[in-house]
Parts: sequence; structure tokens; C-alpha cells
Amino acid sequence: MRYISTRGGIEPIGFSDAVMMGLARDGGLLLPETIPDVSDHLEAWASLSYAELALEVMRPFVDIPEDDLRQLVDRSYATFRTPEVTPVVAVGDVHVLELFHGPTLAFKDVALQFLGNLFEYILKDREQDLNILAATSGDTGSAAIYGVRGRERIRIFVMHPKGRVSPIQERQMTSVLDENVYNLAVEGTFDDCQEIMKSVFGDLEFKDQFELGSVNSINWARLLAQVVYYFYAALRVMEQTDAKRVRFAVPTGNFGDIFAGYLAARMGLPIGRLVLATNENNILARCFTAGDYSLGDVHATLSPSMDIQVASNFERYLYYRLGASAETVRVLMKSFATTGKLLLPQEEDASIDDLIVAGTGNTEATLATIREMQAEHNYLLDPHSAVGVSVGRQFMQDGEPMICLATAHPAKFPAAIEQATGKDLARHEVIDALADLPTRSDEVPADAMTVRTYMAARIALPAEPVDE
Ligand SMILES: *Cc1c(COP(=O)(O)O)cnc(C)c1O
Repeated sequence: MRYISTRGGIEPIGFSDAVMMGLARDGGLLLPETIPDVSDHLEAWASLSYAELALEVMRPFVDIPEDDLRQLVDRSYATFRTPEVTPVVAVGDVHVLELFHGPTLAFKDVALQFLGNLFEYILKDREQDLNILAATSGDTGSAAIYGVRGRERIRIFVMHPKGRVSPIQERQMTSVLDENVYNLAVEGTFDDCQEIMKSVFGDLEFKDQFELGSVNSINWARLLAQVVYYFYAALRVMEQTDAKRVRFAVPTGNFGDIFAGYLAARMGLPIGRLVLATNENNILARCFTAGDYSLGDVHATLSPSMDIQVASNFERYLYYRLGASAETVRVLMKSFATTGKLLLPQEEDASIDDLIVAGTGNTEATLATIREMQAEHNYLLDPHSAVGVSVGRQFMQDGEPMICLATAHPAKFPAAIEQATGKDLARHEVIDALADLPTRSDEVPADAMTVRTYMAARIALPAEPVDE
């Protein structure tokens, strides 16, 4: 399989190059040249284990030898706490797809455990190093750190806004003491961290010299790893319920997770509806209900990993929505960059609009859903997952079971659980164990030059930690 850019500005490249490139060099996002139709295989795939299924789903997209891919997949999912990797449980009128059994208890582990192994494999083959710079407002940082901790040829530098991530999220990151992991507590906001990212990655000379790479959700391998659990859950639920189709409700921030579902549908998985669920930061919901994608201010909510305005993966969907016209994508994204607004042409491929429906789950709905699911079914949802369930329930239809993606374990967000239920119910031994662990992080001012100097010093002297 070869990969092209949504903006049409690069020659087609192979899978490994696409993984290493991250963002396409022309500023667009990478997509496979074609999407394989696998509908003939679904019956046979229904009985596969998670890892076996992952191999089948990924194979057409990947250019590494099958035995190697199998090993990468096996190793990536052996770190999960359940052999099913992503179990599906029936709770009341919905099915909950539990994506939080990985090392950091959030769904990002599903993709980042795989990406870490994949990076290591490609780098070894190419005899290259990789220095990852990331900015996090919470979940991504820890999942990325756990994906690459202790790996050869990789260093990771994660910036978080000092004192502005939850104490649990901070400890999940700073308690990882592997030599290749650097936590930077930036004296500023998450936006400051992102500005530093832009500045450092914008310096192409520095980027090339220090073999800089990124793990953010625009990386194609992350999406590919996420396509798998749509197949896994749909096949299981269809078998249990005798349904011919399913629906998915997806709590959405950067449009990564739901785009993986969109790909699954295009590959032939019978998905009746993909329900896009946002919190009050509902630019995407507005886009799908009114065709209006225009920037607003970011509001802090109970589901912080979805407090996002510009959805970095949306351009991929836009490409298909605009009839695979890189030219049109280029024009629209350029005008979006200057005006902060984008009006979707409504007359294009209407079938796509049929697939994705959208709604908003505000704070009140989030708390009510957590409370009700706990009281009625003794099942605790984290606030992100609760947004998905609350919006998913607005789109129920007989004969099409609703599978709601649970993207984090509730123990990561104990304050929201207590606010909803009045009780301190959300516990997990992984979180409890954090309290006693030593931590390490370095404070830096919100200044790109300082971050660059910091990185350069560690990259030049990889063997030992450097004192400032
Ligand atoms: C990242 C994240 C999301 C949003 O996923 P996107 O791929 O950005 O849409 C939802 N829930 C949790 C817990 C997350 O960490």
C-alpha cells in the first residue's frame, strides 16, 4: 500500500515512510491510496482473537513481513490487563467497548503501544534514532511515554503545563524514570506548549539535525491500530445479538478515533451510524448538524481530553467528503487558516452524511449519565465515555445495537465521579500505586529556545542525565 497526502503535494510513499513522516511534508495528512474492501472476510474473522484480527485488518496497509508484523502486534497487546484486549460488555440498553485496559488506562494505549513497537522496529532496520517531542494536556503524554519507555534508539520529551494537568495524570508521566524519558513542566498553559511544538518543528534544520518525530494523533499508524477494535466489537456484538448492523457512539476530540470507525465502515464493516459525541467544545457537532466548522474558544469541561477546537484529523474526512480532491482540500484549508471558518459544501456524496450523525453531551448530561449508569446498572463510566453514551442514546434504533466506546477508566477522573455520584467510587490499583512512586521532571519557562537547548543537551549526551 502506498500513501498520499490530502493536499496532493508529495509523491506516494510506503507504509514505513508514512509512519516516520507523521504530518505530510506539504502540510497535509497521509492517507492510503485505496481502501481495501474486506467484507468477504467478516464471517471468518468473527472467531479470531484480538491479536489475530489485528494482523488481518492491518495486513493490507502494511509493507513489513508478516511474521514481523505478528510479533509487533503480539508484543503490543501483551501489555493489556485482559486477554480480550478490548472487551465489550452489555450495560442496560447499550454495549460498552472498554478501551482502557492498557498500561495508562486510556484508549490511546491501543494505538501508542503499537506505535512504540513499530518505531523501534523501523529505526532498527534503518539504523536511525528518533527524538520525540510532544505536548500534552493529560492522556496523550502518559500513553506516549508508556509506548516508548526503555526502547532503543528513541528518546521522548513530553511537555505538560505545570500545575494544569490533573495530579493523577502528572504522576502517570513523571513516575516513569527510564533514561529515555524526559518530562518538562512548562511554566505556562497547554497552548504555550503547543506554540513551542510549532516553533521547534517549524525549524526544519533543527528537526533534521536532531531526528525529531511526533506521536500525535495524525500519525497514520495510530489510526490503523484503532480500526481493529471497531471490527472486534462489531463482530462480537453481531454474533451475540444476531444483528446485521451495529452503531457506534464515539466521544470525540481530534476526530482520530471516529475517523478510524469511518475507515472501518469504508472497508465494509456494517456500521449503520457513527455517532460523533462532543462536550461543550462542539465545533464538530455543529459541523455535522449545520455544515458550519468555525472556531470558538476552548472551554474547560469534565472531559478534558475532548477540550479541543481544531480537530487535527478532520482534514482526512474532508478529503473523502470533497470527492478525494486534494485541490479543493488545499483551497478550503488555506481559507480556514486565515478566517477560522469552513463551510462544507452540502451537495457532495450524501451517503457520508448518512453515516455520521452528531450531538453534544454537556456537563449536566455527563453527570446525569454517570449517575444513572451507576445507580441502575452498577457500572461506572468515566466522563468522556459518559458523553458518548449520553449522545449515543439519542440515536438508538431497533435491530442496530449501539456500541459505546469507553475511552478511559473512571479511576483517572475521580473528581467527576464523586461529583456525579456523591461517592468516591472510582479506584484502580494502578492509580493507587502511583502515590508511592518517586517522580522526575524538569521545570522550564514557556520558551521554545530553552526547550531546544534542553533537548540538544540530552540528545548529545544520551548516556547520562545532564544537570542544568
Ligand atoms: C484522546 C481522548 C479522546 C478523544 O479522542 P480523539 O481521537 O482525539 O477524538 C476521548 N477520550 C479520552 C479519554 C481521550 O484520552
